[in-house]
Amino acid sequence: MSDVIVIGGGLAGLFNAILLNRAGLKVTVIEKKTYPMHRVCGEYISNEVIPFLSSLDIDLEALNVARINRLEVTAASGTKFSQQLDLGGFGLSRFTFDNFLYQKALAEGVTFMTGTRVEDIRFVNNHFEVVTPGSVLTARLAIGSFGKRSNLDQKLKRPFFYKRSPYLAVKFHVRMNFPDDLIQLNNYKDGYCGVSKTDGDRYCMCYMAHRDDLRKYGTLQALEENVIRKNPYLNDIFSNAEFLLDKPEVINEISFEKKAPVDNHILMSGDTAGMIAPLCGNGMTMAIHSAKILSEKILIHYQTGKFDERTRANLETDYTQSWNHQFAQRLWIGRQLQRLFGNNNTTALTLHILNGLPPVSRFLISKTHGKPFA
Ligand SMILES: Cc1cc2nc3c(=O)[nH]c(=O)nc-3n(C[C@H](O)[C@H](O)[C@H](O)COP(=O)(O)OP(=O)(O)OC[C@H]3O[C@@H](n4cnc5c(N)ncnc54)[C@H](O)[C@@H]3O)c2cc1C
Repeated sequence: MSDVIVIGGGLAGLFNAILLNRAGLKVTVIEKKTYPMHRVCGEYISNEVIPFLSSLDIDLEALNVARINRLEVTAASGTKFSQQLDLGGFGLSRFTFDNFLYQKALAEGVTFMTGTRVEDIRFVNNHFEVVTPGSVLTARLAIGSFGKRSNLDQKLKRPFFYKRSPYLAVKFHVRMNFPDDLIQLNNYKDGYCGVSKTDGDRYCMCYMAHRDDLRKYGTLQALEENVIRKNPYLNDIFSNAEFLLDKPEVINEISFEKKAPVDNHILMSGDTAGMIAPLCGNGMTMAIHSAKILSEKILIHYQTGKFDERTRANLETDYTQSWNHQFAQRLWIGRQLQRLFGNNNTTALTLHILNGLPPVSRFLISKTHGKPFA
């Protein structure tokens, strides 16, 4: 029996695994894919995480990150809003970052089962049975870090799973002429596309769109032609960029509905506990921060030899309170911002207002971000 089984080896799962393993717990991570892998993500990480990464001896310079400190938001009308970012961030591909963390966790002694999809998680007699195609593993604690939407959300009958979401998202890596210190958020009908530099000689382009527009135009290429490239900044990028991946990464049903940080006694972390609207550029930081909070709470309440139902209840309550305190308001503001963008009229109007009132945009950015943490 492991102390902890971590289901899903994205950022939340990998950081939970590293922290709990370092504290002496027996940790197994089960990940359905194999590393390294591309993921749909804008790949801009807020500098909030830097002190924490430094505390784990993670050297960003060695990962060749791009430093980003300027924001531009554009509308299909051509209106543009520009701002220097107070906190700023860095660009790092998930291909590089997740694989680096996987190798680090592996070298430090975390057990991995990759290429293995968890089919079910059962809570029986104060422990978990985690079902994979070939085996049933047992652990005292289960961390759910299986991302935005998984087969397990359906298995666990989580309410958000049954509310259909119309959004799909697509990610490319490209080579092009674009400022290295800039993140650009380009809006069009029913969506937006983030563009920024990542590690190496490449830029990340990640867009969200509405499935009705995809249905209407039939293919991603036709959707790009008829909807996305109506934004002149994106038209320029699509015309001049060299596309590097064989095919883009695509995901569907991106939901911003509320979720619970603890469900069926499983401790949820990262997007599995709650996902912020991508335009806030802060989901990865929140995934990492939630892993830090969860592993700290586990280490406060969990003892390998003795872990009864009362201690488990205390851990669950303590984690839920901390998660809500740290993230609930940010997610709410992210949901409201998501409504303002992606409609041509409200986007252009919002950018006009922000151009006249720079402190308002500073305020909004600060409300969707936290403080640097270590
Ligand atoms: C369009 C878009 C753009 C974004 N841009 C940014 C950005 O620029 N900056 C930012 O900070 N955030 C961004 N985000 C958010 C960010 O990508 C997520 O918040 C972050 O990836 C969450 O990490 P995670 O570890 O919770 O989940 P993930 O990274 O999704 O990891 C979940 C893992 O669980 C695995 N898994 C799922 N089901 C199972 C199963 N049954 N068994 C085993 N494994 C399983 C998956 O394979 C995956 O590896 C964006 C999101 C979207 C949709």
